[in-house]
Amino acid sequence: MQTAIIGSGAMGSGIAQVLAQAGHKVFLYDTQSAALERANSSLKASFGKLAEKGKISNEQAEAYMANLQFVDSLEALAGSELVIEAIVEDLNVKQTVFRNLEAVVSGDCILATNTSSLSLASIAAACKHPERVIGIHFFNPAPLMALVEIIPAVQTDAALPAKVRSMVSSWGKLPVITKDTPGFIVNRVARPFYSEAIRLLEEGVADCATIDAAMTAAGFRMGPFALMDFIGHDVNYRVTESVWQSLFFDPRFKPSLSQKRLFEAGYYGRKSGRGFYSYA
Ligand code: NAD
Repeated sequence: MQTAIIGSGAMGSGIAQVLAQAGHKVFLYDTQSAALERANSSLKASFGKLAEKGKISNEQAEAYMANLQFVDSLEALAGSELVIEAIVEDLNVKQTVFRNLEAVVSGDCILATNTSSLSLASIAAACKHPERVIGIHFFNPAPLMALVEIIPAVQTDAALPAKVRSMVSSWGKLPVITKDTPGFIVNRVARPFYSEAIRLLEEGVADCATIDAAMTAAGFRMGPFALMDFIGHDVNYRVTESVWQSLFFDPRFKPSLSQKRLFEAGYYGRKSGRGFYSYA
């Protein structure tokens, strides 16, 4: 199957790896050539590491890499049967991309978004054929995380969720179908995990490292601060804000000023060298 990913950042390149390893041809598209170059070298390095560890052969690593094409023109995605968008978490930008995409791909191409929190109905509403729009929400890092949430919009064709579920299973992932609700399942349940941790920090109950150590010792794989820094405050803050707004400003989901300031300062976490922790 010919597939395409829009946005070659953290999620786009991870999803590209999953699809390439599943044997699909993948066109990875980004507007930033630097992002495409980074994705190219990080994917090469990932396949190289898997081969070094003996998890795949050198030939497989080469074949997976050969399944990938890095492109900077939307027109290159014309023959795709499935497109997954993984760009910035901004409704207007996503709607514009979907509108432009529809002018390029065939009428039966599935248009999916990896949005963490935005309304599928609003994204689909930008399209002439909203019935082929669906959420396919991977978790970070996509090649390692089993869970994939599948989110039909109210406009989505009734047969599409089951079709996408079997596709996702064939990639070795665990699909879960959920309604189009702010944050879906995981990001909804995870909001208080982050916001209560920040509240504890703001109240001076303990520092980030102590809270993280307590949570990991209690059985969580990562502490809330290490996890927010890993996800990126540009992404994580926007998701919190979007869930809060979409739930009609329910105070339970109110974002914190401390995280807003990190976001405004460009202290996005690991990717920028500084967040709650310093990575210099
Ligand atoms: P990122 O910042 O790492 O990458 C986004 C990429 O999109 C960048 O390379 C950027 O150049 C590109 N881009 C921006 N506008 C574009 C456009 N108009 N056309 C083409 N490319 C464009 O972001 P990310 O962390 O990969 O997140 C992407 C999406 O995935 C967001 O919707 C986010 O909510 C969602 N998501 C993120 C995570 C996470 O943990 N980071 C997890 C699940 C879902």
